[in-house]
Amino acid sequence: MTTFSLDPGPDQIAVRDWLHGFAADVIRPAAAEWDEREETPWPIIQEAAKLGIYSLDFYAQQFFDPSGVGIPIAMEELFWGDAGIGLAITGTTLAAVAVLANGTDEQIGTWAPQMFGTPEDVKVAAFCSSEPDAGSDVSALRTRAVYDQAKDEWVINGTKTWATNGGIAHVHVVVATVDPELGSRGQASFIVPPGTEGLSQGQKFKKHGIRASHTAEVVLDGVRVPGHCLLGGKEKLDARLARAREGTRGGGKNAAMATFEASRPAVGAQAIGIARAAYEVALDYAKTRVQFGRPIIENQGVAFQLADMKTRIDAARLLVWRASWMAVNNQPFTSAEGSMSKLYAGETAKFVTAQAMQILGGNGYTREYPVERMHRDSAIYTVFEGTSEIQRLVIARAISGAPIR
Ligand SMILES: Cc1cc2nc3c(=O)[nH]c(=O)nc-3n(C[C@H](O)[C@H](O)[C@H](O)COP(=O)(O)OP(=O)(O)OC[C@H]3O[C@@H](n4cnc5c(N)ncnc54)[C@H](O)[C@@H]3O)c2cc1C
Repeated sequence: MTTFSLDPGPDQIAVRDWLHGFAADVIRPAAAEWDEREETPWPIIQEAAKLGIYSLDFYAQQFFDPSGVGIPIAMEELFWGDAGIGLAITGTTLAAVAVLANGTDEQIGTWAPQMFGTPEDVKVAAFCSSEPDAGSDVSALRTRAVYDQAKDEWVINGTKTWATNGGIAHVHVVVATVDPELGSRGQASFIVPPGTEGLSQGQKFKKHGIRASHTAEVVLDGVRVPGHCLLGGKEKLDARLARAREGTRGGGKNAAMATFEASRPAVGAQAIGIARAAYEVALDYAKTRVQFGRPIIENQGVAFQLADMKTRIDAARLLVWRASWMAVNNQPFTSAEGSMSKLYAGETAKFVTAQAMQILGGNGYTREYPVERMHRDSAIYTVFEGTSEIQRLVIARAISGAPIR
């Protein structure tokens, strides 16, 4: 029996300190520049790759760390540096998790390393599920994959949107419908290998925050991929579809949801990194800014705000660590603990960064100080990987068993 512990242990502390150094020395000083440029910070991804921070090995080590909290600790530190650059460095992991969650051992071995490339030739990957008419409602996907038995190829047509690294990725993972009548149960994930004809980038979005992370539409026009690019393989898909058609239990798990479930605590940890960064700036500022002849922190009105900020950050971290530990130790999320952690951490990041701006007064509203950027960055954490409303829906259904809509 593995016991839940809040002590990450010496190895994990060493990793945390190492990542913190990279976040403080490399990421944070570059944050404002890449936010303004709204471009993928390739030189920083390369530097992370050279140090081994951007690599499959590193994430695999963190994921399998016995403490169960390797991934949240890594995410928190990188995103403490900057969320836009943090997402540019870690966006690939969403696609990697899709392969880990749905792929065969052979597929994992083939595709996961290609998603990262090498330190000399770094690559990124994209996970493409969302569509213009299918955001929260994943069952409404229109992108269609049809099997061409004669050639053992899948033909994929559709338009994806909001894809992190979409179009600039070496490897794209695309969720498509193979049987539209089955809704979300009729979907599967496909690898689209590098250089495949018919895949192109649509518009790149100009965003409110996390602007160093590339977000774009991905158009799939007659894309043909070999049969072995269906994650999990055809036999497994056919069996799953048959169960879904019979309405049998076990046919219900859809490919996109499997990816999201596994990644929610990690996304929550990213939000905590942003919140902690803004809290630290605000605490420093409150201690040094003098008004009415004393530091503003000596007013309860300001000090209590900081007390609430710190309390919520620590509470969010506890939820994230619990969910991460549960996932690593194969404990089922019976009360949607993964969703709880992402919901609370995302809302906390928005709350804390807004409070931080308030504590910095006029300075908080300018780009001379980082908190307005952190506030802009935080806003995505109540939207992507399931909005806060969708997390509440998942939690409410899990705790009640009722068909809440
Ligand atoms: C910067 C960024 C990066 C992203 N990266 C990726 C990516 O890499 N891959 C990918 O596949 N997707 C990605 N997404 C998409 C993201 O997951 C979706 O935007 C998100 O799921 C919400 O979908 P939507 O935007 O269509 O909003 P909608 O689903 O249209 O929701 C609009 C509003 O209605 C609410 N709502 C909807 N249904 C309900 C309900 N049943 N009950 C209560 N409220 C409801 C929502 O909470 C929200 O407030 C990204 C998005 C952004 C902005």
